[in-house]
Amino acid sequence: MAHQDLGFDEALEMVRASSLFTTHTPVPAGHDYFSENLLHSYLASYIEALGISWDRFIGLGKINRSDHQELFSMSHLAIRLCQEVNGVSKLHGKVSQRMFKVLYPGYNQKEIHIGHVTNGVHYPTWIASEWHDILKGDDPDHFIGHQSEADQWHSIQEIPSETIQNIRQTLKERLLNHVRSSLKEGLTRRGENPSTIFNVLNGIDNKALVVGFARRFATYKRAHLLFRNIARLSRLVNDPDRPVIFIFAGKAHPADEPGQQLIKDIIQNSKRTEFAGKIIFLEGYNMEMAKLLVQGVDVWLNTPTRPKEASGTSGMKAAMNGVVNFSVLDGWWAEGYREDSGWALPLERTYQDQELQNELDAEMLYNIFETEIVPTYFGTNTDEHANEWITLVRNIMTRVAPNFTMKRMLDDYIERYYLKLEKYGSLMKSDNFRSAHDVVQLKKHLRQRWETIHVLEKEVYDTDNFSIRLGDQFKVRFKIYLDDIEPKDVKLEVIFFKRKSENNLDLRYKYEVPMVTHDDRSATFETQISMEFSGVYEYGYRLTPKSDLLGHQQCLELVKWL
Ligand SMILES: *Cc1c(COP(=O)(O)O)cnc(C)c1O
Repeated sequence: MAHQDLGFDEALEMVRASSLFTTHTPVPAGHDYFSENLLHSYLASYIEALGISWDRFIGLGKINRSDHQELFSMSHLAIRLCQEVNGVSKLHGKVSQRMFKVLYPGYNQKEIHIGHVTNGVHYPTWIASEWHDILKGDDPDHFIGHQSEADQWHSIQEIPSETIQNIRQTLKERLLNHVRSSLKEGLTRRGENPSTIFNVLNGIDNKALVVGFARRFATYKRAHLLFRNIARLSRLVNDPDRPVIFIFAGKAHPADEPGQQLIKDIIQNSKRTEFAGKIIFLEGYNMEMAKLLVQGVDVWLNTPTRPKEASGTSGMKAAMNGVVNFSVLDGWWAEGYREDSGWALPLERTYQDQELQNELDAEMLYNIFETEIVPTYFGTNTDEHANEWITLVRNIMTRVAPNFTMKRMLDDYIERYYLKLEKYGSLMKSDNFRSAHDVVQLKKHLRQRWETIHVLEKEVYDTDNFSIRLGDQFKVRFKIYLDDIEPKDVKLEVIFFKRKSENNLDLRYKYEVPMVTHDDRSATFETQISMEFSGVYEYGYRLTPKSDLLGHQQCLELVKWL
């Protein structure tokens, strides 16, 4: 405002037209809320300097601006100040539509203007140098530039199984050596007796199947699921011919006491004699340790409460290094999972009650380890069976990992958002901010006149019982009083819904009804739709703003159902 000599409204349009809000989690702790009083004590003079009323400002973060008790939501503020909004996986995009639908009255959940770009991970940071030496070929820059294309990873399909086996084993031993020295240091520092230290270190077997679980210890990630049946877990890890090691690492937020309790419980469990060297908690989780883990384990485990894992990224780092994933089909794994590249717990909840759901998920978790993962890994000691695991390693690297690289993510951001926002940002700025002024005027005008809009004549197709037959001619004609709103600035749509329950309408089809004539204060919209579907539908007619100056239909909160 100061540098370009703009009013608040023009500056807001400028910022909106060129900004994207990426929402990162459905978990409430990830969305800040502040009381109006608190904001007032810090921001009152700043808001005054902006030249807008306190109410106007507070309305940007509230549903009902005159409710002084309602908390101010930073996420709502961000949505109102950004033309585009995205979630960080396909599923999370949908979850965010549901979460924020209150900000888009008049629109169906499905059409809410929130999209997604699935996260990706930074290949140069996370790939083991042993793999990179094979992948980079003669031209490392070329590989880096094309890392998201599956065919660039073909060398992993072509190298001999022994090479894959050897690299996996090298990376595993590097991890286990780190685990040994870290445990030795920790146990010694805490004054454990030498025989305990010996037992723990001696229990760590280089030939074991190693499973990793490392992330922030937020309770929704359910690190405790594996411990629901201690006896069964003990049988799983202690088979002398087919030993299994679980390595846990992670930190909880300082204010997250339940998260800290989870860590305590896991450490407590790891101290049981039967788990010495089998269930390991590593302290001091950071990126260096994460690298050793995502490169060195055989299986990467994730057990979030559906659908709270917006994306999850550690599993992508693991996939890149040939680590097979086993996760709930939530977040990125809902997109990444393939039967030939890992294992999954189903997406659908069976129970509303979370305790029952945990019980069921734990049961499936043990089952899949016992009947699929462990037998596949150890085979029957013949080469043929060992190869089954190598095939999984090849598949997750070549068929899954490329799609979860940062290159793919950036390409998506550019294509879906940045180019569009660049275009609108430049439009607003051009000609000394003329379009920014125009869009402010347009919004003001539409808001002022919107309530005067009403139907003058209406002739619409009437079905008996909402029953639509294939080939029916669905005629619509509306004559609408628009006052001095320009007919080109509005859009009429006919929309068909399936009723799923009393208050859940699912949008199925929508058609725009074109304007055919207009006079001084009114316009006629008319069309005839030849029905291409049949069945029982509810339908309605909706008038909304429409303009090239608006990035999309939902840029303005005006919606009139006729
Ligand atoms: C990748 C990473 C995370 C995030 O892991 P999620 O699977 O997304 O929870 C957290 N901490 C560190 C150190 C990491 O490397």
